[in-house]
Amino acid sequence: MDQAEQRRAQTKPAAAVEKIRCDACPVMCYIADGKSGACDRYANHAGVLVRLDPLTIIEQAKDDGHKLVPFMNREEEWSGDLVGQSGFVTAVGAGTTYPDYKPAPFIVSSKADDVDMVTVVTEGIFSYCGVKVKIDTDRHLGPEQAVVRAAGEAVGHVTTGEYGSQMLSLGGVNHLTGGSKKEGRITCDTLLNLCNGKAVELTIDEGSDVVVQAGKPPIVNGFQEERMRVGCGSATIGMFAQQWFGHSDEVVVVDDHITGVLSEHQAGKVLGVEPTGIKIKGRRSTPGRYFQVAEPGAGWGGTDVDDPLAILGDFDPKVAKAGQSLLMVSTTGEQYAYFELDDELKPVEKDLPASLKVSVERIAENCEPACCSVLFMGGAGGSLRAGVTENPVRLTHSVKDTLTYVSCGGAPVYVWPGGGITVMVDVTRMPENSFGYVPTPAIVAPIEFTMRLDDYEQLGGYMDAVVSMEDVLAQSGSRRVQNPDDNPWPTTSKLYRWDRDRGS
Ligand code: SF4
Repeated sequence: MDQAEQRRAQTKPAAAVEKIRCDACPVMCYIADGKSGACDRYANHAGVLVRLDPLTIIEQAKDDGHKLVPFMNREEEWSGDLVGQSGFVTAVGAGTTYPDYKPAPFIVSSKADDVDMVTVVTEGIFSYCGVKVKIDTDRHLGPEQAVVRAAGEAVGHVTTGEYGSQMLSLGGVNHLTGGSKKEGRITCDTLLNLCNGKAVELTIDEGSDVVVQAGKPPIVNGFQEERMRVGCGSATIGMFAQQWFGHSDEVVVVDDHITGVLSEHQAGKVLGVEPTGIKIKGRRSTPGRYFQVAEPGAGWGGTDVDDPLAILGDFDPKVAKAGQSLLMVSTTGEQYAYFELDDELKPVEKDLPASLKVSVERIAENCEPACCSVLFMGGAGGSLRAGVTENPVRLTHSVKDTLTYVSCGGAPVYVWPGGGITVMVDVTRMPENSFGYVPTPAIVAPIEFTMRLDDYEQLGGYMDAVVSMEDVLAQSGSRRVQNPDDNPWPTTSKLYRWDRDRGS
């Protein structure tokens, strides 16, 4: 070394000399000794690149009466012990290989009922992904297509409502990559937190603030929602008409979508309920079913009304009678009021009779607890599939033929019909903290492909890379969690076409 070279070496920071390069994603971080990379998933331990989270193994329930608990909301069970053949190596903590033509981090052999199986395990990097959120509430969260924001950034939109629930579609490639850098970062944070079971505060343009957390009740504008409605107003009339018959001359179930009126509804007609001369504001659809009785809001039945009489016109004096009774109730039974008509046919509020109290309580009893459901949705694209086989389209065919079972952290997924391997998974069925991120930005999600060893060979799998579970555990720290009893065991033969073919 000449003098100039010696000087350069002396002035070069020691950390720079010791940095190693992580090649697990396109960011290609240089990581100094003792530090972690930009995603906190990989670190430099004395010059060796290590995955920081332990590999997660799920275990089957034991027949010892041990009560299983859901993956999320539970204390993790950590262990470095080797597990027997009843274990299943998930992709949580497995790491990622990059570029994509390299075999997946773990390709693990196992035996299930004397059948040789293999599971290809990888943490996929998803730029094309998002979450679908179902929020059990009648309260108006915002108009369809309204922008959903987190920390002021657009992260998704309100999509078509479902029965008793409001739906949000969050994330997706346009928010992750198509907007500003900040929008991409906040979108990625929002998806990551929702998928890992954390509470996230969202604001909807021209709508509400809502706190969403998988498996927990939503908090809408500061109020925790308790009940999911029993049905629409019309369905509620159909369900409870018999219990109201003879106890109230008229019943109106106030609902933002379909308000029901007992005396006009088919259920009331069949029972012989007499007309009451009631007049409902709004658009009559079919007898006893009214649309648009008010604006959407956080009041009765998802409308903006706090006074239910606001949806009524004057009673028809040719039909209505003084003393006639009227029960008005919302679709959750949370709001109710009882009236009797005075001599001028104006409703006057009275105490709810005991005979009607029972039916109102029954509406509430029939409402399920309000909950937020978070489904991660992503596509296992060409690149991810290349870590499974040299001929990626064969994996798609194998999945569609149910020769290959797809799971995320051991949890079952729904595979969409049509092209590609587009999956949806309920994040509450996955182990805690299954998700990560990389700052490209993209979400890192575990995905496993399980099939017969023969089938793997047929689809052009990396047979040289197949290792036993013991070998996997020997090279990686692990944690064990129990498979929730409603998650099928991924190597169970009934999940595969060959088992059904065998029986036919
Ligand atoms: S972001 Fe994470 S995975 Fe990507 S190169 Fe850096 S440390 Fe590795």
